[in-house]
Amino acid sequence: MAAILVENLTYYYPKSTRPALKNITLKIERGDFIIITGPSGSGKSTLVRTFNGLIPHFYEGRFEGRVLVFGVDTRRASVAELSRKVGIVFQDPENQILTLSVEREIAFGLENLGLPSTKIRERVNEVLKELKIEDLRYRVPFELSIGEQQKVIVASILAMKPKVLVFDEPTAHMDPYSAWIFSKILKELNRKGYTIVVVEHRLDLLVEYATKIFVLKDGKLYAQGKPDEILERDDIDSIGVNVPKFISFFKKLKNHVRTVKVPRSIKEASEVLRKVVMWSSL
Ligand code: ADP
Repeated sequence: MAAILVENLTYYYPKSTRPALKNITLKIERGDFIIITGPSGSGKSTLVRTFNGLIPHFYEGRFEGRVLVFGVDTRRASVAELSRKVGIVFQDPENQILTLSVEREIAFGLENLGLPSTKIRERVNEVLKELKIEDLRYRVPFELSIGEQQKVIVASILAMKPKVLVFDEPTAHMDPYSAWIFSKILKELNRKGYTIVVVEHRLDLLVEYATKIFVLKDGKLYAQGKPDEILERDDIDSIGVNVPKFISFFKKLKNHVRTVKVPRSIKEASEVLRKVVMWSSL
């Protein structure tokens, strides 16, 4: 059974005459690492809001087709039920913070689930350790850096033990180093068995971990496939997808040197270039 199955989904926000999503069909398997990309306004955030039922339960509007989360039709389950399977980390961590200590923040959702306090303490300890933020336990979330806040939100969602973790532009407010660290956290979570879905413009750090990329354009699923299949396509650049520079570079190089293979990561790219430099200096 797929983790998330979207079938012929069309969605209009209330009072809107233009659909934000048009006839989308896609499948996310357990263990996948998915990147959802595409130009601004193409429907990426709207799509992920359907994964935990925020659409249609909270946003309302016109909803056609269906979304199944581990086989359950999202129209027949509450957002609270679906959130136990699909945890979403939205763009601005500040807007998701509800309490005045990191420890309380992580415990909050678990208290709402009605877990006994010993179990809550256990889970809080577990996720603080997992995300290496034990030193933040007694801090005030509002006073933390955006990167730290992001980790606290991730911790509060991990504590609920969802199977799918969705991140909506997680690195948007991060400096390059924090974004790099964050990409490693995502990789590690995926390795531990979580299904990862990331809405992202910045692809250079994540592309090597992705099992599949979905490209949205004007509310439609414009393309889907393995990262190399998608990013090597000539049309992908021109619709406004940020194809990583190292991929564009190797694509051009390939026009001259047929045998060159387009690398999947910056590390792999620098390895290939090192060899080229070595050969040419022989
Ligand atoms: P993306 O995440 O790709 O930038 P969005 O999903 O945010 O795109 O937006 C897709 C379309 O839906 C846009 O035309 C946007 O204006 C519209 N939209 C997004 N959120 C709302 C909302 N809460 N109410 C009405 N329209 C919205």
